[in-house]
Amino acid sequence: MYDIVVLGAGVVGLSTAVRIQDVLPDRKVTLIADKFTKDTTSDGAAGIFRPSVEKTPVKCLQQYRTWCQDSFKWYHTLNVEDDPSETGVIRLSGYHFANKGSNPPRFHYGITELTEKELADLPGNFSFGWKYTSLMIECRRYLPWLTKRFVSRGGRIEKRKVNEILEFAGKCSLLVNCTGFGSSTLLNDKKVFPVRGHLIRVAAPWVKHFYVWDDASSYIYPGQDNVVLGGTRQKDQYETSGGWEWFDDVKSRCVNLLPGLKNSEVINKWVGLRPHRAFIRLEVEDLSCNGKQLKVVHNYGHGANGVALSWGTAIEATEIVKTILSQESSRFKSKL
Ligand SMILES: Cc1cc2nc3c(=O)[nH]c(=O)nc-3n(C[C@H](O)[C@H](O)[C@H](O)COP(=O)(O)OP(=O)(O)OC[C@H]3O[C@@H](n4cnc5c(N)ncnc54)[C@H](O)[C@@H]3O)c2cc1C
Repeated sequence: MYDIVVLGAGVVGLSTAVRIQDVLPDRKVTLIADKFTKDTTSDGAAGIFRPSVEKTPVKCLQQYRTWCQDSFKWYHTLNVEDDPSETGVIRLSGYHFANKGSNPPRFHYGITELTEKELADLPGNFSFGWKYTSLMIECRRYLPWLTKRFVSRGGRIEKRKVNEILEFAGKCSLLVNCTGFGSSTLLNDKKVFPVRGHLIRVAAPWVKHFYVWDDASSYIYPGQDNVVLGGTRQKDQYETSGGWEWFDDVKSRCVNLLPGLKNSEVINKWVGLRPHRAFIRLEVEDLSCNGKQLKVVHNYGHGANGVALSWGTAIEATEIVKTILSQESSRFKSKL
């Protein structure tokens, strides 16, 4: 028997499990997943805080903004108050080239348009852009940091694949589903689709700023251990092995942005599937099996912004969990 089960140990599941412990310290939380830390999609992500408000359906805009604001506040506090070599949350400044009329990023520590002189002094031949400071969350450090926090507060971990969500009917107070792309098979959710991405990590300690070229989906983000070069966005592509031509393409686009990277040593090449959905699924579902009930709070489908949005959606998922549990407890008391 379980109390609260969180299914999925990527950045969304771990954040949700930790947040539930923060808000409901008397409940027992068990985290179940078949992949942890370095084997998750979250681990490979660039981790930049740049959620794209533009693609959000109008009716969900306010909710989306709240997730962004809550997450930014959380990462800002971690950056200021904790050790970034442990949390992985660093502050990063740099240049973002775009077309006139493009929408500027909305979450940052201040942004200014690049002047003609600044553009002329930068590599490339761009005619418009901004400079700003933002946050980067390196999941190679952040996921272990969240895991340590979860376990130190009595959280339990089980490593296994779950083939049927209804196995938990009658066996837990509530289940929170944070299985990301796994929800497409676990729940047969046809609205989930992959957007494949390729990243390269190189040794180039001299890169101290980020460089982004919107039009070509090209970016260079310096982290604490290496520099991330990206990327690709390939809808409905499932294959995560091979793809060497795409890595060559990423490298050559980034060398165009910053020619000094030409001979940088490649440390790692990585392919991941962004768990896209028309909009993130954050809601309750009542299931039952052989007369046994299962309440599921879904929290998945974060697409290209899961690292950035994870804390904001964890806050909302936890509020839903809290409301359900207090309703159940009042119902139980009124029966006595
Ligand atoms: C190339 C690339 C670059 C990216 N860059 C950024 C970025 O800069 N900023 C940003 O915010 N986001 C970025 N993202 C997106 C981000 O990686 C995802 O949105 C995020 O990782 C989703 O987190 P998650 O926890 O939902 O999924 P995951 O990290 O995939 O975790 C899913 C978890 O569920 C478990 N699971 C699934 N099914 C089952 C099952 N049946 N049984 C047991 N366990 C199960 C898995 O084992 C795993 O633990 C990027 C993604 C890619 C591919």
